[in-house]
Amino acid sequence: MNLVRTFSDARASYKGTVALVPTMGFFHEGHLALMTAAQNSADTVVVSHFVNPLQFDNPADLERYPRDVERDMTIAEEAKVDVLFAPTSVEMIPQTPLTAVTVDGLTDTMEGVMRPGHFAGVATIVTKLFAGLQPHLAFFGRKDAQQLAVIRRLVLDLSFPVRVLAHPTVRESDGLALSSRNTLLTSEERLAARELSQGLFAAVTAVEAGERNGPRLESIVRGALHSSRPDYGELASQDRVERLSELDRPSFLAVAARVGKVRLIDNIAFDLAAGEVVADRGLRLKHPSLLYR
Ligand code: AMP
Repeated sequence: MNLVRTFSDARASYKGTVALVPTMGFFHEGHLALMTAAQNSADTVVVSHFVNPLQFDNPADLERYPRDVERDMTIAEEAKVDVLFAPTSVEMIPQTPLTAVTVDGLTDTMEGVMRPGHFAGVATIVTKLFAGLQPHLAFFGRKDAQQLAVIRRLVLDLSFPVRVLAHPTVRESDGLALSSRNTLLTSEERLAARELSQGLFAAVTAVEAGERNGPRLESIVRGALHSSRPDYGELASQDRVERLSELDRPSFLAVAARVGKVRLIDNIAFDLAAGEVVADRGLRLKHPSLLYR
């Protein structure tokens, strides 16, 4: 594996087609799944590793975000990643940017409301990664459904020659979506964190029984939150991220809640196949995550 710190060193180590997996590090099996999907689709896999300060609206959250580059290098090496791009902050943000990428409309709900400036921070850094690393493909997790919509739209609007591919959410065996932030939970909070996925799966059961009403599905999700403090539970369209009164198109049911000091998000995507609604439940680990290794 090549560990590189600059865009030009990353580009100099490419062979053939290039797939990018953007991350903020502290790897777990969700990241590994994106790396494997990238390996199956391209000759060179470049994983970016950068805790993006522009996307944190809360300085304490940025401060607390788990970091361990040595650990991540070992994991990336084991995963046979070709290039680990771990830029210095000067390489990534040489000067306070006077240019920002904002994606309107899609960011007026959910995370866009709860975390002002968050998506502009994400979109600006992802644009820099696309410009500096010039990948043919880029892999993102469905775990961050609104982010995925934002990235797809910025690629369309700015004509980036990048194909965006999405991967299902990887979950612990009890359903909790993997997140680097899970390492910040106490054991009591870890139990409470199950409420997010439990609510989503209860809503999936209702959908399978024929429920299509948006507000009723949202109230099932919110109704599961007892020990965690809800920020929102919303059904929205996958492309425009517009709140839906009926599940009648590709959509996702999303939840965000605070468990202690840790803010967690999760969602289940609903796709339509031959007129049928199909829930993407994600993938479940059979063993505890490497987050706790
Ligand atoms: P992060 O390092 O949390 O910014 O995530 C980097 C990429 O991994 C993003 O595209 C996320 O959507 C994706 N990701 C994070 N958690 C998961 C998960 N549990 N399952 C699948 N993808 C994930």
